[in-house]
Amino acid sequence: MPLVVFVLIDGTRPDALAAADCPNLASLPARGAFTFRAASVMPSVTLPCHMSIFHSVPPERHGVTTNDWRPMARPLPGLVDQAHAAGKRCAFFYNWEPLRNLNLPGSLAFSYFRDNVYTDSNGDQVIADEAVRYLSTDQPDFVFVYFGTVDSIGHRHGWMSAEYLAQLARVDRALGTLLAALPPDSTLLLQSDHGGHERTHGTDSPEDMTIPWLVAGPGIRPGYELKTAVSLLDTAPTLARLLKINPHPDWEGRCVEEIFA
Ligand SMILES: [Zn+2]
Repeated sequence: MPLVVFVLIDGTRPDALAAADCPNLASLPARGAFTFRAASVMPSVTLPCHMSIFHSVPPERHGVTTNDWRPMARPLPGLVDQAHAAGKRCAFFYNWEPLRNLNLPGSLAFSYFRDNVYTDSNGDQVIADEAVRYLSTDQPDFVFVYFGTVDSIGHRHGWMSAEYLAQLARVDRALGTLLAALPPDSTLLLQSDHGGHERTHGTDSPEDMTIPWLVAGPGIRPGYELKTAVSLLDTAPTLARLLKINPHPDWEGRCVEEIFA
């Protein structure tokens, strides 16, 4: 089955894509269906957002409301749990450790983690290089690649600061490494988890809640700006469709049908 790749660039505001020197990110809207007005969830904080992305329910349903992980209030299967149960091979590449708990133990065929978000400005390149190395030898069905440094620089220097935009440009080069290694029949979904303002995020302000959301690949409308409202709750159902697996009945998001040509 063709590869489905999910890339998440933490803390990336949609308006940063136009302000930063990021040719790889800038090439994606022409290649696929996109919106620069997708919605995060409250609280617009990394772990609650990721739990919502992978389980397609809001934080008030899964119960993870801070970056301190806890068992879900009422557990439900997430995207990778569903994919694994359907026989799909899934792999994770990430550099923020709490993301280890997005799936049930036993659901991943491969996982690579390195704690470099706060220590290495090229930390996301390390993650991309490992993903590329893995893809050169294995044929997974689904790969999640998480880049965490843009968010850490936002907290240090401020969202939309020169340092923040320079970091997004650096991460764009890591993304370029990954894109160049993908088989031509791959499908890519790329988004952020939340935005940010000043040196923080977590509020319901538009700066924190608005995220980019893009899909490109075979059968996806090229150069198409989505007209319907997209939420990060829609990511798992959309990825499930791309993976040809069933969404879980408890998921609250929808497959964004409008992306398909
Ligand atoms: Zn985040």
